[in-house]
Amino acid sequence: MHWVQMVPECPGCGFVFTRAPGQWLGSWFLNVCLAQTVVFAVLAIGVGFTWPDPPIKAIAVLAVVAAIVLPLAFFPYSRTLWVAIDLVMTPLAFDDGVLPGFMLEEDYEAFRREKEPPGPDL
Ligand SMILES: [Zn+2]
Repeated sequence: MHWVQMVPECPGCGFVFTRAPGQWLGSWFLNVCLAQTVVFAVLAIGVGFTWPDPPIKAIAVLAVVAAIVLPLAFFPYSRTLWVAIDLVMTPLAFDDGVLPGFMLEEDYEAFRREKEPPGPDL
């Protein structure tokens, strides 16, 4: 079960992997794309190389096995890949709570003070 269950956050830096509801649709999409590509390749190569008398049953069984096994085998990789793609599309913010963030806390406070409108004492 460890293969299909992801830890909630990175053990190294505390980054929470699920950043938004529905986020894993992206990894699902990657998985479906890979499975479809491989199934199509099995069908095309299987029929192409054995033409004009392709062993349809054997090719079909191979395609079905690929369609079932590949998404399970690729599952953790599709999630890791999707986390990376998501990080490129939506870079980390200070309040994401990732470890280097707390080292910048003072700079962030100074930045916020600069952006606030001047108080009555100025
Ligand atoms: Zn990390």
